[in-house]
Amino acid sequence: MDCIFCKIINKEAPSEIVYQDEKILAFKDTEPKAPVHLLIVPKKHIPSIDYLRKDDMKLIGELCLVARKLAREYKISVNGYRLIFNIGRDAGQTVDHLHLHLLGGRKLPWA
Ligand code: AMP
Ligand code: ZN
Repeated sequence: MDCIFCKIINKEAPSEIVYQDEKILAFKDTEPKAPVHLLIVPKKHIPSIDYLRKDDMKLIGELCLVARKLAREYKISVNGYRLIFNIGRDAGQTVDHLHLHLLGGRKLPWA
């Protein structure tokens, strides 16, 4: 499958990995939009939240807990941070492998 995040997960493409476990990988975004910009992805290929199944519910909670752990490690949890799922074209989704953006390290204006 021609999915860049699957390639990163399978170590067929380079990335700066910051966390991994059995089901989840997190790595640095190559075009950071904030001082801290990490992507937290399930190892299982799910195109977006729009394709989520009931069985995947726990996985989404786990992505959030990994995000919280990384926010603490990167020392942005006190000042605050933002978690984003982009879904579809209008939201600007460019990679069709579900990913949670973790952004922080600066004030993040809304809209
Ligand atoms: P989205 O627009 O929500 O689909 O986000 C995709 C994100 O993936 C963007 O912020 C890109 O900068 C990032 N990205 C694309 N290719 C790579 C890559 N090979 N390694 C790390 N981040 C990437
Ligand atoms: Zn994929």
